[in-house]
Amino acid sequence: MSARPAAVLWDMDGTLLDSEKLWDIAVRELAREHGSELTDEIRHALIGASGPNALRMLFAGIGVEATPQVIGEAGEFLERRVTELMLGPIPWRPGAKDALAMARAEGLRCALVTNTKRSLTEYGLDTLGRDFFDTSVCGDEVPHGKPDPASYRKAADLLGLDPLDCVAIEDSPTGALAAQGAGCGLIVIPCEIAVPEAPGRVFRESLVGLSVVDLGAALAARDEHFGSAAR
Ligand SMILES: [Mg+2]
Repeated sequence: MSARPAAVLWDMDGTLLDSEKLWDIAVRELAREHGSELTDEIRHALIGASGPNALRMLFAGIGVEATPQVIGEAGEFLERRVTELMLGPIPWRPGAKDALAMARAEGLRCALVTNTKRSLTEYGLDTLGRDFFDTSVCGDEVPHGKPDPASYRKAADLLGLDPLDCVAIEDSPTGALAAQGAGCGLIVIPCEIAVPEAPGRVFRESLVGLSVVDLGAALAARDEHFGSAAR
């Protein structure tokens, strides 16, 4: 018997939208403001990280003391720049629109689960289309962002579901940890950086051709490794 998920929990940046590219532009500009060029190593460590934590990693990487004032100003700079960039067209990830439509056609509940704060997520939703989602959870709406599982737990809760009955779609190591921490089935589609193989993770090249059977297989892969006793 193949499991059928009750819901799909979609990450936004790097999974549905290629918005990591916009963050990349803004973060590189921020480093340059501090007289530094961002190395790929630091940039990759930042992908999927959230808010002040990400900024502390950034400043540690470029050797700038992360005083509360520096962190505060950097946060304002990034929000302003990414907002400007998000007002332009945000590129979709391949197959994302069809995958969202498939989930709806199959009658699955859907939530957007992102580390990005609400004000910026709204621009993403303008591009994605709000009809594809029953609810959304943003980084500033939970006590701790991904890799903490709180955002995935909250999304399932808002849908009135158990996270165990949901499949998450993620592109980053940080997001993958959050989804699995909540107990969701997980499909990983790496975007900018590699995501380590780990028990229960199903990998795909892209969202192109994603079907409800693939979603069910993600639940089966999780149960195979962690046991169906959790269900
Ligand atoms: Mg992501």
